[in-house]
Amino acid sequence: MHTPRCNHATGSVQEYADAAISLGLREIGMSDHSPMPSFYDKPWRMDRSELPDYLQEVERVRDHCRGRLSVRIGLEADFHPGTESYVAEMIDSYAWDYVIGSVHYIGDWAFDNPDTIDVWDQCVIEDAYCDYFDLVARSAQCGLFDIIGHPDLIKKFGHRAPAGSARVAAAEDRMLQAILKADVAMEISSAGLRKPVGEIYPAAHLIEKAAAMGIPFAFGSDAHSPVEVGHGMDACLSLLQSYGVTSVACFDGRQRSMQEISRG
Ligand SMILES: [Zn+2]
Ligand SMILES: [Zn+2]
Repeated sequence: MHTPRCNHATGSVQEYADAAISLGLREIGMSDHSPMPSFYDKPWRMDRSELPDYLQEVERVRDHCRGRLSVRIGLEADFHPGTESYVAEMIDSYAWDYVIGSVHYIGDWAFDNPDTIDVWDQCVIEDAYCDYFDLVARSAQCGLFDIIGHPDLIKKFGHRAPAGSARVAAAEDRMLQAILKADVAMEISSAGLRKPVGEIYPAAHLIEKAAAMGIPFAFGSDAHSPVEVGHGMDACLSLLQSYGVTSVACFDGRQRSMQEISRG
């Protein structure tokens, strides 16, 4: 979940925690958009100078909520080839509970940014899907992350690769194999339900394959405001259960443990 430091979220960390407590959740994770090198996607993330303030606020709320709610301290970092050493250095600078790795760019195209949605009209959708899944595979292989974020974000605006594309299916399989081999968790995110595509990330067929392969899942609401805390969680957990998944990943000091899915 996010904070206003990324310039596209609202609410204090305490307000996110209060929302979680009133929903009866036992654990949440804050993972605001991480600082990146200055050339990269600057308006959509905190500046490096804001990182200490972010950590202080989350630590303060974590300590305040102790006994009622576990508050984990994380980051949503970007995977963008060429920035790995910057990200590695930043991850090393703090004792995170977890770090999400997300792909938001193909080359210099922010494919999920509404401001550059026109690029979709000029691109070959099948190529965009293949390029995207190959980048997500590399994000798993780079070894920096605990969770692979929203693993088919490429569908956000509803652009669909041709049905039955063998190339896209092969790219999806490469991604799943990379995630399995890297032993990282895959996010199941309700954010897609709130986007034009109107669908959980990742799609059901990817969940089915990942579940059969034994890839662990971590739930994320990707809340950008306190009212989105826990949004769609039941739908995501039910979908996982329909494919035989019985537990989800939690993180403490970058150690993964599996929690039985329970309701109520
Ligand atoms: Zn965001
Ligand atoms: Zn993201």
